[in-house]
Amino acid sequence: MQHAIEAEGLVKTYGKGTKAVRALSGVGFAVPRGTVFGLLGPNGAGKSTTTKILTTLSTPDSGTAVVAGLDVSREPGRVRHAIGYVPQKPCFDPTATGRENLTLQGHVYGLSRSDIRARGDQLLERFGLADAADRVTKTWSGGMQRKLDVALALMHRPRVLFLDEPTTGLDPEARADMWAEISGVTEADGVTVLLTTHYLEEADQLADRLVIIDRGQVVAEGTPEELKGGLDGDTVQVELADAGQQEAARRAVASVRGTGEISADGARLHARVGNGAATLPGLLAALEDAAIPLASVTVARPSLDDVYLRHAGRSFHSADRAGRAGTEVAA
Ligand code: ADP
Repeated sequence: MQHAIEAEGLVKTYGKGTKAVRALSGVGFAVPRGTVFGLLGPNGAGKSTTTKILTTLSTPDSGTAVVAGLDVSREPGRVRHAIGYVPQKPCFDPTATGRENLTLQGHVYGLSRSDIRARGDQLLERFGLADAADRVTKTWSGGMQRKLDVALALMHRPRVLFLDEPTTGLDPEARADMWAEISGVTEADGVTVLLTTHYLEEADQLADRLVIIDRGQVVAEGTPEELKGGLDGDTVQVELADAGQQEAARRAVASVRGTGEISADGARLHARVGNGAATLPGLLAALEDAAIPLASVTVARPSLDDVYLRHAGRSFHSADRAGRAGTEVAA
């Protein structure tokens, strides 16, 4: 088996009739074994629905999924033993100690007493939780609790680990710490990781390969470098002093030689240009001629945000806000 996960043509609709929401419209991808694979998309894109199907918590209307060589529809029980799942919400008992939580998890998966002890100690050590192991977990920091969630999911030595938005709610230091742990997991445990995230930097940092999901469809797939490298040139981001001048600014920028696609989001305007440094003087002059005051201007190499913009036709952050506010319905 070359791939740890193979999903093909996954379709899922919630509800019926006029209230029906099409969450997935034919999602498919393949995850090479022993890698970290990112499922990146704004809120409401369909990431959790995909994860639920792959972890047997939900069934697709159509399409197939094979995880660790097992068909999720035909052998859900065996799939559950082959995977570890870290949901967005904590899944440990806050009134029990770290060690007690791991012991209980070991019993749930039918490990022997001696194995539970050895595996528990190993994981507590690995995640830097050994000193706190005998304290009740509700007294632990958010970062420590998140690491315990991952340790619990690894207790029975799964072949595939699902991490659903693993760093949401963590402060920057705990997030960086968590990133280091996730990177280490594929090597230390030989496990394949499917990481769901709506943080562009997280996917960029951690994923060996990723798919970008938008409105229930895969819109791009590759390594972060391939995806960014597929876009020529630089991005100029102009922040207007007055969002009301968006249209005038767009016209002024479009008149500059060397300017490609332009997109706007409130007071922010993004323009693809061949060479940022060479285009910038003309672009600033055009905006000045049009009497448009600016708050800031930056030139950057393409980011995953630009990749998303290219494929989805809107900025990742505006899509994420819309998805979170529930104003977006996948059609
Ligand atoms: P993500 O994880 O990327 O934020 P989801 O998979 O949770 O996206 O949701 C995809 C779409 O399906 C969204 O439009 C969401 O509102 C809808 N959806 C998710 N779960 C349900 C549900 N249980 N009932 C109805 N609609 C749902």
